[in-house]
Amino acid sequence: MKILFLDQSGKPGGAELCLLDVAKPYRDRCLVGLLADGSFRELLEQQDIPVQVLTGRAIQVQKDSNLLKGLSSLGQLLPFIGEIAQLSREYDVIYANTQKALVVGAIASLLAHRPLVYHLHDIVSSEHFSAINRRLIIGLANRFSSLVIANSHASVASFIAAGGNRDRVKVVYNGFDLQRYQHHADVAAQMRQTLGLGDRFVVGHFSRLSPWKGQQVLIEALQYCPVDVVALLVGDALFGEDAFVAQLHQQVEQLGLGDRVRFLGFRSDVPQLMTMCDLIAHTSTAPEPFGRVIVEAMLCGTPIVAAAAGGVIELIEHGKTGWLSPPGDVLKLADIIQQCHSQPGQAIAIAHQAQQSASQRFNLDTTNQQIAQLLQQVVSDRG
Ligand code: UDP
Repeated sequence: MKILFLDQSGKPGGAELCLLDVAKPYRDRCLVGLLADGSFRELLEQQDIPVQVLTGRAIQVQKDSNLLKGLSSLGQLLPFIGEIAQLSREYDVIYANTQKALVVGAIASLLAHRPLVYHLHDIVSSEHFSAINRRLIIGLANRFSSLVIANSHASVASFIAAGGNRDRVKVVYNGFDLQRYQHHADVAAQMRQTLGLGDRFVVGHFSRLSPWKGQQVLIEALQYCPVDVVALLVGDALFGEDAFVAQLHQQVEQLGLGDRVRFLGFRSDVPQLMTMCDLIAHTSTAPEPFGRVIVEAMLCGTPIVAAAAGGVIELIEHGKTGWLSPPGDVLKLADIIQQCHSQPGQAIAIAHQAQQSASQRFNLDTTNQQIAQLLQQVVSDRG
């Protein structure tokens, strides 16, 4: 089966990193078509996955588009759609991995008579999308897609609540290459030394810097934690949130936490960094569709505390495989950090439990098999 994957982003967010793993088994018979150039293209090339930037320039990616912005970004895409439709004829399935890819994929599917699969990595709600974008997603998915693969039951629920066809959607969790997360204590020790962290209690936060990812919540919580607790913020602003980054730095300065908060920027050695942390905090203030970083923390055997909303509550069993904290609740987060700090034995026991459970539930071989079967079904039904 030949697959044309489409993704709107040149930058590697969670949806793109998931696509990297989904596309890998098809690398001798697929193409990843990007609507913007960037470091995601390089990641695909490094893994020998064929990739092509399908548009001459970057398309503005904004989930909160109003009608005018929405039409203008669609206008940017139109000149390329004929070529993309032509290209689609060389493939058996069009696999749209993001919302704008769904727009392009739907038109290409119509023109090229190829089935369309949409991988939904989002909660389709007003917290994440404007009304026009929600209508667009649902309208196109209902009218043109043969299958919607959703990354969690929370994403499915939002899709159905927004008017999506419930018979077309199947849940497949993100899968992970388990080997990538197996690092030994000596790697962690080395990393601590390189970063000059000594034996301080390190709380890691791994996410792009964006207001709803809630880095500000962790910074605020830090002032209620013992002074040897430090925060590592790993990730960069991917979608033009530079003003927010400046705000975070200002917050750190105002709270006098300069020596307890480190900004590491985007890193490609996430598993090694996670292994080194004493605790990982996920602090999204809006419901997270899935939360790759949560599963990654579990696979590394590092305790995780996460904001209890959206797909997250499908990943963590509170008190058994991690801790859940109400989104935006600074004092509760500080309380859980202190608990892990003062009772490390209990935290490690929970992390081991989480590691075992995550290895079984989020194994890439299994999830890729599930996707392969679903795609096979789509092609057979069409044939
Ligand atoms: N990530 C990364 N480097 C960084 C920060 C994050 O590779 O510096 C990865 C992280 O390991 C995870 C992904 O980016 O796999 C983020 O996915 P998640 O589902 O947590 O959030 P999203 O970006 O989809 O909102």
